Amino acid sequence: MAIITGQEYVQSLRSRKIDLYLLGEKVKEPVDHPIIKPSINSVAVTYDIAHDPKYESLATSASHITGEKINRFNHIHQTPQDLVKKVKLLRLLGQKTGACFQRCVGMDALNALSIVTYDTDQKLGTEYNRRFMDFLQHVQHKDLMCCGAMTDPKGDRSLRPSQQADPDLYLRIVKRSEHGITVRGSKLHQTGAINSHEIIVMPTRKMRDEDREYAVAFATPSDTAGLLYIYGRQPCDLRKLGDSEIDLGNKKYGGQEAMIVFDDVFVPWKRVFLAGEHEFSWPLVNTFAAYHRQSYGGCKAGVGDVLIGATSAVAEYNGVPTAPHIRDKIVEMTHLNETIYSCGIACSSEGCKTSSGTFLVNTLLSNICKHNVTRFPFEIVRLANDIAGGLIATLPSEKDLQNPKTGKYMEKYLKGKREKSTEARLRMLRLIENLSTGLGAVGYRIESLHGAGSPQAQRIMIERETNIKLKQRLAQALAGVEPE
Ligand code: SF4
Ligand code: FE
Repeated sequence: MAIITGQEYVQSLRSRKIDLYLLGEKVKEPVDHPIIKPSINSVAVTYDIAHDPKYESLATSASHITGEKINRFNHIHQTPQDLVKKVKLLRLLGQKTGACFQRCVGMDALNALSIVTYDTDQKLGTEYNRRFMDFLQHVQHKDLMCCGAMTDPKGDRSLRPSQQADPDLYLRIVKRSEHGITVRGSKLHQTGAINSHEIIVMPTRKMRDEDREYAVAFATPSDTAGLLYIYGRQPCDLRKLGDSEIDLGNKKYGGQEAMIVFDDVFVPWKRVFLAGEHEFSWPLVNTFAAYHRQSYGGCKAGVGDVLIGATSAVAEYNGVPTAPHIRDKIVEMTHLNETIYSCGIACSSEGCKTSSGTFLVNTLLSNICKHNVTRFPFEIVRLANDIAGGLIATLPSEKDLQNPKTGKYMEKYLKGKREKSTEARLRMLRLIENLSTGLGAVGYRIESLHGAGSPQAQRIMIERETNIKLKQRLAQALAGVEPE
C-alpha cells in the first residue's frame, strides 16, 4: 500500500468509533461535518501531493526500514537533505492550503521517538526502539496520519505533576499489568487529532523520580475506548455552517485543534515507548520541540506567502500598487517571511546524525527559527491590515451582495479600480480577514506564538545552547585580555 491518495485518506477516516463533541453535541461522522471538513481537506493535500510527479522528490521518500516508497510525512530523516526537503514541502503545503495541514506534528513525534527510544534502550537495556520500529513500519506501510500529543493541562504551574491537587492534570499511568498500561489525563490544543489514525502521546516536561508515572509515551488508535475529543472553536467558525463561500475567506481549507481526554485508556506494551524512565522525558520533549520549531520555518512561510499575495492584490484593486510606501511595506513583509524560511533551511542544513542514525536539526537554530515565528507573522499581519484598510473588519456579508436591493450598492460603492471586479476585491479582503482575525488566524497567529512552545521556552533553550564563554574568549583574544 504505502502511498494512498487524499480520497483514500478521507475514506479511511469514515466509520471509526470516535467519541467527539462539538458545540455541545456528539458528532456521528466527523468526515461529513461542515465545521470539520476544511481541516480534513487540508490533510488530504498532504496525501495528494505525494502523487504529483512534480513534487515526487519533496513529498515522498524511501523507507529506511523496507526501502518501500512512502509519504515524506512518515519518513525518518536520513540526511540533512531530508531535513531541508521537509521544510520546502511544508512551505509548499502552506502555499497550497493557506492553513495548518496538521500532519507535521506526527512526523516530528516519529522522528523524536526514533532517537529517544534508541538512547533509552542503549542506557537502560529496554526494548522501546524495537517496539517503536514495529509501529513505524505499520504507519509507513498503511500511510497513516499521526497526531503528536504533548501539551498537558498543567493546573498550577508552580507545582510539579505529582504535587498537583488533582493528580490527573498531567497525563499519567494509573495501572500497570502484564499486558500493558492504563493511562488517565488530557492533552490540550491537539492539532489534527480527529483527522488522525493514531495518537502518539509524549510527556510535556522534564520529570523527576517522584513524577515517573507521568514519564510516559505511547501510540493508540484515535478511536480507542476511553478516548474523548472536544472540538476547539475558532473565530467565525459558524460561517462554515452557511453556504457563503466568500465569507469564509479561504474557500476550502482550514486547521483543527481539539482537547483529548484519556479516561482510563488501555495501551498494550507493544505500543508503549516510555513508561517511568523519567530521565528520558526531557530529551523526548526537547527533541520533539526542536523538530517542530523547524517545521514552522516551512509552514508559516508558506501561509505568509499567501497573505503577502493577498495584500499586494488588494493594493492593485485599490489602484495603488506602485505607491512607494505600499511597495516598501510589501518588501518588509517579504523580508520577515523569508527570514523565517531562512532559519528553517539553516537549522536543517546544519542538522547532524544522532547515534540512532536519525538526523536531528541544529537545535539552537531551530529555536531561533521558532522564536522569529512568535513575532514576525504578527508584524506581517499588521502590515497586511494597514494596506488592506478597515474593510477587512466591516465588510457586509455575501448574502447582502446577492440581495438585489443591497447588492447593487455594494457593487457600486465597494468597487476599487475600474478594470477589477468588486467580487474579486471582496474575496481577497475576506482572505486577509481569515488570516488576521478569522478562521485562519488560529494557525497563523496564535499557533505562531504558542505552537511548538511559547516564546519563553525558546529563550530558555537559546540560553542553554549558546556557548557564551567561547564568545568571551573571542573578545578577550582581540582585546588583549588574558583568559581567566
Ligand atoms: Fe504543520 Fe505548521 Fe500545522 Fe504545525 S502549525 S502542524 S508545522 S502546518
Ligand atoms: Fe503546531
